[in-house]
Amino acid sequence: MAVMDFEHAISAIDTGFFRPQFDASHLLVHEGRAAFVDVGTNHSIPRLRDALAAKGLGVDAVDWVILTHVHLDHAGGAGLAMQSFPNAKLVVHPRGARHMIDPSALIAGATAVYGAEEIARSYGTLVPVAAERVVEAHDGHVVDLAGRELLCLDTPGHARHHISIWDAMSRAFFTGDTFGLSYREFDTDKGAFILPTSTPVQFEPESLKHSIARLCEYEPHQMLLTHYSRVTDVPRLAQDLYAQIDAMVAIAQAHADDAERHTRIANDLAALYTSRAQAHGCAFDAAEVRELLAMDIELNAQGLEVWLDKHNKP
Ligand SMILES: [Zn+2]
Repeated sequence: MAVMDFEHAISAIDTGFFRPQFDASHLLVHEGRAAFVDVGTNHSIPRLRDALAAKGLGVDAVDWVILTHVHLDHAGGAGLAMQSFPNAKLVVHPRGARHMIDPSALIAGATAVYGAEEIARSYGTLVPVAAERVVEAHDGHVVDLAGRELLCLDTPGHARHHISIWDAMSRAFFTGDTFGLSYREFDTDKGAFILPTSTPVQFEPESLKHSIARLCEYEPHQMLLTHYSRVTDVPRLAQDLYAQIDAMVAIAQAHADDAERHTRIANDLAALYTSRAQAHGCAFDAAEVRELLAMDIELNAQGLEVWLDKHNKP
């Protein structure tokens, strides 16, 4: 399903990045005005325009494009989105703002992780955003969507340029990658299955746990994840995230001095997620879990290694 509609005029739009139901942009509509939270890549922007049109709204109805953080699967299309939505302002963490105004460092960083060919294919050319259209969201910043207040919290741990956005009306947080990943293929009669994301290069396990705990203090009824959209049962999922962050750190530390560190960390992560998915009641075997989580296992292993290298520095 390309668009899922929830209560309180919130929709999840499948950006089409990587595979179906992998990467979402969320649309909020209030009093005929619109805000997007995360936008996917350049290739996603026609889908965002289509979703607006399906709600009877034109491109001039968009007041806000809010980025949870500037990783390219969330923010790669931001410049093109700003070209497409002429009245919009871009809301971004103060540490991310300069990267939206001048995306060159972002491209270089992503190229180091993914390689030049993959960057060109997946993201195309990043469009810079005019500085006067960028609003820096410090902790406690409130975005006003036609009277509907959206509170931005500084939530480091996945990245230092990460905000999470509280919508009191729906008692929902838009969590980007702070509240992990939850693919709908893993749903069982026990509910959602979740895992943390430690993508390079700013994973900080203690900050991440602290940020998750801070979100939970608001007693949210639901979390809207970029990968992939709505989960409920927040306290259970938070406990699942804490346990796995600790387990992932233990895996990284156990292999810190291995010659084949990367392979061993990736293998142990795959085993961790497989055993937890099967305990959750998922019918997937180890190979199927490894295939569905291939990109996440690879990125989590890389991010844990970057963390190890920083952590073990004398
Ligand atoms: Zn991210």
